[in-house]
Amino acid sequence: MVSAAVALAFVPLLLSLLLRYRHHAALLCRAALAPWLRERLGGAPREQRALRFVLAHAAPGDPRHVLRTLDRWSEAREHLSSVGPRKGRILERLLRERAPLAVLELGTYCGYATVLLAQGLPPGARLYTVEMDPRHAAVAEKVIRLAGFDERTVELIVGRSEEVIPRLREKHGLRKADFVFMDHWKRCYLRDLQLLEAHDLLAEGATVLADNVIFPGAPHFLQYAKTCGKYRCKVHRTSLEYFRAIPDGVAELTYAGPR
Ligand code: MG
Repeated sequence: MVSAAVALAFVPLLLSLLLRYRHHAALLCRAALAPWLRERLGGAPREQRALRFVLAHAAPGDPRHVLRTLDRWSEAREHLSSVGPRKGRILERLLRERAPLAVLELGTYCGYATVLLAQGLPPGARLYTVEMDPRHAAVAEKVIRLAGFDERTVELIVGRSEEVIPRLREKHGLRKADFVFMDHWKRCYLRDLQLLEAHDLLAEGATVLADNVIFPGAPHFLQYAKTCGKYRCKVHRTSLEYFRAIPDGVAELTYAGPR
């Protein structure tokens, strides 16, 4: 009787937690549990399913249509952790303002932000995008080429960022990046920013954008950016891709040069 009474006492707490975190619970179901279950039941990985949808419905050579098709998939079918349209508009605006000639993306995933960035590049610019998972890179390659970008505009590099960054200059011909977009593992943001500094790969005045600095968050990266004296740092507050109720943000760093 006593244990039943104790258990009942927790019901209001559980209900209030469920109510408060219902959007996170929905995200967990759509982004992790449902795809995991589908794959257990013998389905293809979700990125492959998304690719099939894009190949069937997107207009080849039309980057905007490719992006809209990926959005349709993520909104109605399964969550893909791409940057999405809301944060994408921030990227597009900053890219237009800065008109960079050498862009580096860390974390290609399915190629969503790659296509978004590539369509906004000024003439003669080049985008280097790095993906560590060969299965995701294979999907991204098809999405990028479907959108109409060849190897001269977008070079997809498969490998771990900590191994690729030190070879970017010698092996891939990137002298310095003037625009960087980070959207890979959040725990790698700080390490890779410092690697870019150590290998002198950031042009003075370069813009570094980092996605998801509020959710799931990159506190060490943000703290470093704000306190090391090498960057002006600003966080664009918005919401998580395809989940308007979960706050998120994109960090914008402006590199002042080595100090
Ligand atoms: Mg992201």
